[in-house]
Amino acid sequence: MRSIGRLGQPALPFRCGFPVSVPFRRVTMHVDMSDLDTPIPPPAPAGPTDLAGLTPDELSALVVELGGKAFQGRQLFRWIHRKGVTDFAAMTTLPKVLRARLAEQAVVTTPEIVRRDSSADGTTKLLLRLDDGRQIESVFIPDTPSQTFCISTQVGCAMKCGFCLTGTMGLARHLTAAEIAGQVRVLARELGFLDTPFNIVVMGMGEPLHNYDATMKALNLLGSEEGLHVSPRRVTLSTVGIVPGLEKLAKEPYMPNLAISLHATTEEQRDRLVPINRKYPLAQLMAACRDFPLKKRSRITFEYVMLAGENDTPADARRLVKLLGGLKAKVNLLPLNEADGIPYTRPSDERVDAFAQILANAHITVSVRKSRGRDIRAACGQLAVEKSA
Ligand code: SF4
Repeated sequence: MRSIGRLGQPALPFRCGFPVSVPFRRVTMHVDMSDLDTPIPPPAPAGPTDLAGLTPDELSALVVELGGKAFQGRQLFRWIHRKGVTDFAAMTTLPKVLRARLAEQAVVTTPEIVRRDSSADGTTKLLLRLDDGRQIESVFIPDTPSQTFCISTQVGCAMKCGFCLTGTMGLARHLTAAEIAGQVRVLARELGFLDTPFNIVVMGMGEPLHNYDATMKALNLLGSEEGLHVSPRRVTLSTVGIVPGLEKLAKEPYMPNLAISLHATTEEQRDRLVPINRKYPLAQLMAACRDFPLKKRSRITFEYVMLAGENDTPADARRLVKLLGGLKAKVNLLPLNEADGIPYTRPSDERVDAFAQILANAHITVSVRKSRGRDIRAACGQLAVEKSA
């Protein structure tokens, strides 16, 4: 039986891009990897404690320290994460004296919307300013099939994938857990989703496993029953394959869906397109994927950006089939979104279809992404902030 992509399946993701795919119907730079070894900490927490990055337990402990009761810490978490309220004065279930103490000693930071761009196809991109003036982008993609938020984990990215605009920025800094979760809070509040289910794809700017602790803490904040209670089934984390991070992720109680930005089928080709491959080679990455504990009925999504004349040949497709042999996998083909400064071009539709057909003939579920938000530069690989403070 031929297995091809289907509409109605969960969001089909892409690193630094967005989970908009359509089924395959036809049947119908030199890179210095030492960047990775240099810890780039988030800005030192100066001044008051930022409550937006604390778990319910951490908030309860803080509230008790301030003379309140532990359950009030949970109420505080609900105000911040479920109701999107950041002004202590408006948290009317908390005693006045506690609110006054919180106002003296703590803040709730929230990324500030600098600009909102809306695409003709309904995609919305928010340019957000962080507390230190740096800027990131987060995107809302409607009907994919569910509503989906795409969030960033770093300002820029150290991975420097050869086809990605974000990679050209380099890495300015990691985001904190508060800043990562804060993007969802802002999107949900701005677009009226505080009480409506949505999906999250961790595929905006940055490599989430390069900022592991903050990313996982943010996902736990978002998953908390006291907050937005986003099920891990609704979350997809995409990585270029930082193998130690994958091994850690495999043991997490809050286990999102996994997407791997593969993009190549030989070590030499991947070294060129995805330079992290020089540190964690394809063979090691595929072994980590085979060991990854998948939930029942779940699969790993392999993202494959298609670059004309580079990785789009029938031989590439056949090697991809071989690489994925025996894995519970689906493939999302992503014809390149061309951009100035990216030295690759988009293959023809015929070329993409021929590639997809080879995968489909091998019973691999395959989807071809339909680009969304290209008119506002919100599509795959197009996120880049022109000027960060
Ligand atoms: S450079 Fe690579 S890892 Fe970084 S954002 Fe772009 S595609 Fe993702």
